Amino acid sequence: MTFTGGAVVAGVAGWPINHSKSPQIHNFWLRKHEIDGVYAPFAVHPERAYDAFRSIPLLGLAGMNVTLPHKEIAYTAMDKVDHMAQRLKAVNTIVVRRGKLHGANTDFFGFFESLREACPSWHANTGPAVVLGAGGAARAIVAGLQDAGAPEIFVINRTPQRVEALADEFGPPIRPVPWESRAVALSDANLLVNATSLGMRGQPPLDLPLYALPQFAVVYDIVYVPLETPLLAAARARGNVAVDGLGMLLHQARQGFRDWFGPDPEVNDALRAYVLEAL
Ligand code: NAP
Repeated sequence: MTFTGGAVVAGVAGWPINHSKSPQIHNFWLRKHEIDGVYAPFAVHPERAYDAFRSIPLLGLAGMNVTLPHKEIAYTAMDKVDHMAQRLKAVNTIVVRRGKLHGANTDFFGFFESLREACPSWHANTGPAVVLGAGGAARAIVAGLQDAGAPEIFVINRTPQRVEALADEFGPPIRPVPWESRAVALSDANLLVNATSLGMRGQPPLDLPLYALPQFAVVYDIVYVPLETPLLAAARARGNVAVDGLGMLLHQARQGFRDWFGPDPEVNDALRAYVLEAL
């Protein structure tokens, strides 16, 4: 791919950064749309992250994605943030507008778009959701489900203090459930989300019997390596709709691409296959 001195430049900052799939996603779209642009990985040491983000306009960059462990420090470096970034106090997409840093958090948008794609008839307000995890990804999903009108959100985490802090911060309808009660907590759910790292390659499997889960419930595992986790396989085998984590990763990237480079890019099978090869 070639680009000129007038190329629009964006990228992704993290530490480490070599695991990030964002360069593959954005450069796939740049090629498809024949845009004079570049999207590069930036290895930014945590001690220099704040200064690095403040330097984005000075370097003439269009903006940046932010990944672990910088999402919270990026939030503190912004001139302005969107509703979701404000709620989560975490930023994953930075856009430079008239020299100022605008921060957004698009993780829930990615989650919700891929859920709608897999199950267009699903609505947040038709029943309780159960979310496993209380880390960064779980926080984004819980906040988004709350905004979308979920009547009850049961949040289950190995470390109870973390889930209690989340419930205190976000308020009703979030209800902490002990980790030991996770199987029975599924009995009324219309959505089950695994937002822990359990089931990911190199991590222990998620031990969660599904006997109490209604068959109409959608099961969503945000882990995407492997794509078909044992949780999703078990859900499919008993007739539940199962959604893998790749769609969230791809859809969360759309807003940044559109804001930096122009077109609203498509998430399609060709992109999925291209990114899957790199996993
Ligand atoms: P995080 O902030 O580090 O949170 C990790 C979560 O997993 C915590 O709730 C943690 O519980 C739980 N956990 C870890 N090991 C556990 C164990 N042995 N037993 C029980 N619970 C355990 O990570 P994150 O950023 O939220 O990411 C979580 C997962 O989502 C990762 O696999 C990540 O790759 C994936 N993810 C996917 C997308 C996507 O686009 N599809 C986006 C973001 C993240 P404690 O609080 O008890 O430690």
